[in-house]
Amino acid sequence: MDLTLYNTLTKKNEPLARPEGGAPVGLYTCGPTVYNFLHVGNYRTYVFEDVLKRTLKLLGYPVRHVMNITDVGHLVGDGDEGEDKMSLTARRENKTAWDIAKFYTETFLSDAKKLKLDFHPVGNPPRENDGKAVDILCRATEHIEEQMAQVDRLIKKGFTYETADGIYFDTAKFPAYGALAGGAHLSGLQEGQRVAMGEKKNPTDFAVWKFSPATEKRQMEWEYRGRMGFPGWHIECSAMGQAYLGDTFDLHCGGVDHIPIHHANEIAQAEAATGKSPFVRFWLHGEFLVMNKAKMAKSAGGFITLGDLETKGFDPLDYRYFCYSAHYRKQLDFSWEALEAAKTARSRLREKASSLGAPADGDESRAWGERFQAALAADLNVPEALAAVHTALAKIENRAQAAALLRAADEALALGLFESKTESPLAPELREKFQAYLRSRETKDYASSDRLRKELAEAGIVVKDTKEGSTWSRR
Ligand code: AMP
Ligand code: ZN
Repeated sequence: MDLTLYNTLTKKNEPLARPEGGAPVGLYTCGPTVYNFLHVGNYRTYVFEDVLKRTLKLLGYPVRHVMNITDVGHLVGDGDEGEDKMSLTARRENKTAWDIAKFYTETFLSDAKKLKLDFHPVGNPPRENDGKAVDILCRATEHIEEQMAQVDRLIKKGFTYETADGIYFDTAKFPAYGALAGGAHLSGLQEGQRVAMGEKKNPTDFAVWKFSPATEKRQMEWEYRGRMGFPGWHIECSAMGQAYLGDTFDLHCGGVDHIPIHHANEIAQAEAATGKSPFVRFWLHGEFLVMNKAKMAKSAGGFITLGDLETKGFDPLDYRYFCYSAHYRKQLDFSWEALEAAKTARSRLREKASSLGAPADGDESRAWGERFQAALAADLNVPEALAAVHTALAKIENRAQAAALLRAADEALALGLFESKTESPLAPELREKFQAYLRSRETKDYASSDRLRKELAEAGIVVKDTKEGSTWSRR
């Protein structure tokens, strides 16, 4: 089964071709800017990208995934003006910009683990993996050379001009500029959006390199062409994407906010530097998580973090289930009630999972498994895939086959359905006892199940039997 995806570039659903000779599909996902905690809106995008990656694997496409960490401070303004966000936070928290980047990168990676994002980079920097690493986490500050090299190429080919504060990309020299947004970026500007022009020749021009102000010693700055400076806002993704995935590659993702500026600029830089088009064959964009009709945003304050959810007693995977209530290209409204409903639904599935016993494939599980896959293969229709699972569980009578289907679904959707509820799993001997308990109930061997229940209780494990199955909890 091939994967069909909606491509922002062509505005069509298109099948994703399998690279020749079993080569991996190249996937680049724009990572976080690490000057603050991420909010759950950011994680909606990362969950969508994770489902994409898991679906690729499910359908037999090998994947090479690159994600950046923006640890060079973006500027506060939407254009290329304003203060550096990383330095701003550093001053507020009385730390260095490097400390800030390190701290928030670590919190991001710890959240990512809790959300079961399937991303396991090894080695740092990843170049040490002689080009074979499958998951690559690359920090902008560790790839300054690649970024300078891309700026060099752009200068040499005549795509840039210099102003007092930096080196700018001249979008008038790149006729295809903004094709991704279908001109939306220009109509946005024409509608009176304020653009700080400075010495820019065109409103859409952007900095590929910024000069440090002569009067200021910045915490993060590098010497380039005889002056101190730092990379522009967008250069890291095109430079690192090309360094690890080649001049052109298959998939590039982010939230919809990246379409008009960040991704438009990445395309312009990458294609101008190499002369090869398209830079990326498929562009995929996730819609926003909204709250009270407004986009949840990092800079706006008042946002909800994964830690906030945990404090209120939610498992990060409850949030993952909640994300599955809408297709990734539709906006999703955050509310605590909806999250509570997701928590209950996931908990029912977990109870079901623990009651089904050992999995074994058969005709029914295979047929439902295909339906499940087909929904994912059709532009990642997770709500439909999840609905197929619920219907299948109601219909499949053979418990082992139901378990097999649920396991396969959990592999793709990463809901932790077969894991114990508490942080620490059961010790092996208790887990075995609980499994034996489930088996004894299945075979109606009540003498054994009573004995096992008593033994588990003596070890502090309370077993609860419900219509959907048996679960355990610690006393
Ligand atoms: P940033 O660190 O701001 O670049 O954001 C990281 C990712 O989260 C990007 O792909 C953004 O497009 C995405 N993002 C930001 N806000 C939201 C939101 N409210 N809902 C969904 N995705 C978002
Ligand atoms: Zn990016």
